[in-house]
Amino acid sequence: MSKTETHHFQAEIQQLLNIVIHSLYTDKEIFVRELVSNSADACEKLRFNQSSGKPVYQSEVAPGITVTTDDKAGTVTITDTGLGMTHGELVENLGTIAHSGTKAFLKQLAEEKQPDVGLIGQFGVGFYSAFMVAKKVTVLSRSFAPDEQGWQWTSEGMGGYELAPAADLPRGTRITLELKDDAKDFAQESTVERIIQRYSSFVPFPIELNTKRLNTVQAIWARNKNEIKEEEYNEFYTFVGHDHEKPLFRLHFTADAPLAIQALLFVPSRNFETLGMGRMDSEVNLYCRKVLIQAKAKGLFPEWLRFLKGVVDSEDLPLNISRETMQDTSLMQKLNKVLTSRFLKFLDEQSEKEVEAYAKFYTEYQRFLKEGVVTDFTHKEALGKLLRFESSTMDKGKLTSLADYGKRMPSDQKEIYCLLAANREAAEASPYFEVFRERKWEVLFLYDAWDEFVMEHLHTFDGKPLKLAEKADLNISAKKDGALSEDTAKSLATWLKETLGDKINEVRVSQRLVDSPAVVVDSDKFMTASMRRIMKAMKRDGPEIPAAKHDFEINPAHPLIARLEAIRQKDAALAGSVAEQILDNARVAAGLLEDPRAMLTRLNSLLEKVLAKE
Ligand code: ADP
Repeated sequence: MSKTETHHFQAEIQQLLNIVIHSLYTDKEIFVRELVSNSADACEKLRFNQSSGKPVYQSEVAPGITVTTDDKAGTVTITDTGLGMTHGELVENLGTIAHSGTKAFLKQLAEEKQPDVGLIGQFGVGFYSAFMVAKKVTVLSRSFAPDEQGWQWTSEGMGGYELAPAADLPRGTRITLELKDDAKDFAQESTVERIIQRYSSFVPFPIELNTKRLNTVQAIWARNKNEIKEEEYNEFYTFVGHDHEKPLFRLHFTADAPLAIQALLFVPSRNFETLGMGRMDSEVNLYCRKVLIQAKAKGLFPEWLRFLKGVVDSEDLPLNISRETMQDTSLMQKLNKVLTSRFLKFLDEQSEKEVEAYAKFYTEYQRFLKEGVVTDFTHKEALGKLLRFESSTMDKGKLTSLADYGKRMPSDQKEIYCLLAANREAAEASPYFEVFRERKWEVLFLYDAWDEFVMEHLHTFDGKPLKLAEKADLNISAKKDGALSEDTAKSLATWLKETLGDKINEVRVSQRLVDSPAVVVDSDKFMTASMRRIMKAMKRDGPEIPAAKHDFEINPAHPLIARLEAIRQKDAALAGSVAEQILDNARVAAGLLEDPRAMLTRLNSLLEKVLAKE
């Protein structure tokens, strides 16, 4: 006489199963993650019962998980030595809505056009994902309670399930899936191994696949920092970062508020983008209690932190988070904000404590920080702190921060000055630098073509405006001997404008030049010469960039300007030629002369005239 009982699934479970069985969901492999997670939970619960002193059946057997595949039979079996289930628990857990999860999941599926069955585990109904790949599921379970007995639960998904006593079972649960014809691949060891490695590498109980131990790397992010050895961190980095070099920086932190987060982040020692490997993708994986939710989670960090590698684990991930919508959820944004702020704070600390390592970091990754300044308003201020530049008051090769520059500013200096140049020599020789040298005011030298753009975006630092040297409105205080009088200089300027015509916008008498006779200045308030160059380089199909209009400033104290004034009445032709040459010289100094041929012809004829006089 068979003792088999036949049970019906509750209506909602049946409804759920109908969807699962007929789903065309492509990531069917997640059933492995779900069943292994259930086993891990069962092991965890066993351990808890054991430690709270409850009597445990076969207490000498350690909690663990074993997976076996049988490609001939077309089965995959997941066994654990966790806490097992009694008859009542099997009925309760695998046939009725034990939790509100089923209803919530069904509601979500009904609302979506393309139901994402992949969410199943997050709704607390992961067990049923087995029916995506199995035509029949058999569960053998024996509770840890010593005076219980074993049971066999079987179902083909439709209608209901059968329960029968099973003799001589070890403690725990064994779930065997008889795979559907189109899912036979899951009976292959290599397939199952890949899936376990992907999702369950950090499950805190040993997982064996056909006697081979799989998860040997621990979820060290969940451990206490002080107990983790350097080698363990490095081994872990090699594992998650696929990088055999040691990381440049490591940040391991835990937060409880506003979100429960455990994170272990690494900065690789080299910037892979500059190694010609194309744009990187963030390699930070998102976990919820050590089980992978999303590899290379999108939206977890801003784009400009895409060089980070590592793990973020948050218990606060809600049940209804999906791959597609994850990026948009406010939780994801909150996580992003907390993580980014924390990482920026870390970098700031490193820049003080680990000066050398930070310098290396800066060399490798400055472009990312600058990208952040330009694209990420939220973190602009914190990013500004991390920037470093050469400065006129420091030796070549030494870098300073904006904060340190600020500390050195004399009390009458109100702005932070920057000068964009090709290199140190060009910066120091620049006519725009003269007034600063004379005043002994510090100027930051920017050599990266992006810097000007970055400074424009940063706009101020610590309340001090950032100003480009060529736009600074500064005068040299002391008047020089032999300088043209104000009136003479003005009339020379008027003559120059007449002579040079359309080549320039306006001619002014400059108060900021010392050694140079003249300088060209961008008359455009918003765009400087270097910015224009960048725009040109970036431009593809955009609108034409308006041609540059320059103002011309002359130095009334320069002998060349004084001579020009003297000869312009006597030899108008020579004076005109010299005026044009001075303008072209100023353009060369500003890096603006595109075609030097006309200038060279003129220069040669001027030289000829000089020599003819000898
Ligand atoms: P969830 O695990 O999210 O609660 P599932 O549908 O996956 O939802 O499982 C339902 C319940 O069945 C679990 O809460 C657990 O009580 C029980 N269960 C599932 N698998 C096991 C197992 N391997 N060992 C013990 N109990 C299990």
